[in-house]
Amino acid sequence: MGLFGIKFKEFSLVYDFIIIGGGIIGMSFSMQLIRKYPDSKIAILEKEQSAGRHQTGHNSGVIHAGVYYTPGSLKARFCFDGNKATKSFCDENGIKYDVCGKLLVATTPLEMERMKALWERTVANGLERFWLDSLQLKEREPNIRGLGGIFFPSSGIVNYVEVAQSMAKRFEESGGKVFYDTEVVGLTEHSQGMVVKTRKGRFESRYLITCSGLMSDRIVRMLDIEPDFIICPFRGEYYQLPSKHNNIVKHLIYPIPDPDVPFLGIHLTRMIDGSVTVGPNAVLAWAREGYTKRDFSYHDIMEMIGHGGIRKVIAKHFGTGIIEMKNSFCKSGYLKIVQRYCPILDKHDLHPYPAGVRAQAVSNDGNLIEDFLFVNTPSSVHVCNAPSPAATSAIPIGAHILEKIDEMIK
Ligand SMILES: Cc1cc2nc3c(=O)[nH]c(=O)nc-3n(C[C@H](O)[C@H](O)[C@H](O)COP(=O)(O)OP(=O)(O)OC[C@H]3O[C@@H](n4cnc5c(N)ncnc54)[C@H](O)[C@@H]3O)c2cc1C
Repeated sequence: MGLFGIKFKEFSLVYDFIIIGGGIIGMSFSMQLIRKYPDSKIAILEKEQSAGRHQTGHNSGVIHAGVYYTPGSLKARFCFDGNKATKSFCDENGIKYDVCGKLLVATTPLEMERMKALWERTVANGLERFWLDSLQLKEREPNIRGLGGIFFPSSGIVNYVEVAQSMAKRFEESGGKVFYDTEVVGLTEHSQGMVVKTRKGRFESRYLITCSGLMSDRIVRMLDIEPDFIICPFRGEYYQLPSKHNNIVKHLIYPIPDPDVPFLGIHLTRMIDGSVTVGPNAVLAWAREGYTKRDFSYHDIMEMIGHGGIRKVIAKHFGTGIIEMKNSFCKSGYLKIVQRYCPILDKHDLHPYPAGVRAQAVSNDGNLIEDFLFVNTPSSVHVCNAPSPAATSAIPIGAHILEKIDEMIK
């Protein structure tokens, strides 16, 4: 018998809480849930063989400070808190991280204007930061060229798969169960909770929490709810620099983002293993889990083309999309973007590196949804939009879902 009085049935495994998705958000939430409800039966269902195989395992590994986000938004709040919480979690669990700081670099007068706007925004977001003129920039980063920059000392780097695995370990040590290789294929909500159908059999639970990244809209649709958004997959392609360039920069180097585009632009990222990557760009992926240019899903493409919101986004960002696509195929185009702030790099410095795919929610009326988005039913909470900086924000996001669950249980 589960904590909430659901009776065991022969043909299904019964839990108090089921979580779908073993990425960093599912793991962070589950770890916090079992701490709060230690006597409950909790299971995570993950379709892959281990934790963090999708977005959590294909990202830049940056512990963001919270520079860009609209003051007061969930992103701004959770990123700010998540920056500290991630570092504390790493300290407590012996996970290596490096607070190397981040430099935003402006290379044109227009970018200088945009950088001033970001400077104002970071006051509202409560961040420590330092304005640098071109000389100070050069002193800090001899290989970087720019008209000016802003330095954020609290940004850092980590391996988020290690973080997610460590959270999973803590969850399991507290009595939680993780079912890997267990894809959810159907959901039914009834007055007593949820029936969860998987390829491995049937589960039941009083409450369901879904943290399913690139599949978040499809999971909601399994409940016969028509979401007012769709997930649009944007592939982020990287290159890695040769090891002779491992010390080319001391900090993370970011361009000034275009305010009309939701992604941060190609940056130079020091990785926690000592290497340096360049990227990611943002190209429409032809499959939800399409990590290479050749990955193609007829079903996913038809779904995207058939969605009015995605068609509007494509029309609105058509020019940028074509340039991104061109630079995806043409290394020299990609290189030119990086050379604007790091002119010593050449084409031979860009070595292949695995891409990631972002789960970006697009509203039915054609907007890229900026903030984190959650959808509730009487017995469930669904994380529907958790793009960057959701890895940094995973601990506060987990706490936020826990508050929603507490409300349901009351
Ligand atoms: C290129 C790129 C760069 C990024 N850089 C950063 C960064 O530097 N810093 C930062 O903070 N954030 C970054 N992000 C964002 C960050 O990686 C994600 O926001 C975060 O990992 C989301 O975690 P998640 O748990 O929601 O999703 P995921 O890690 O994608 O996990 C979702 C899980 O759900 C599982 N699942 C889906 N459907 C089912 C089903 N039917 N049954 C069972 N399981 C299912 C999947 O297998 C997957 O494991 C980046 C993202 C990308 C793609």
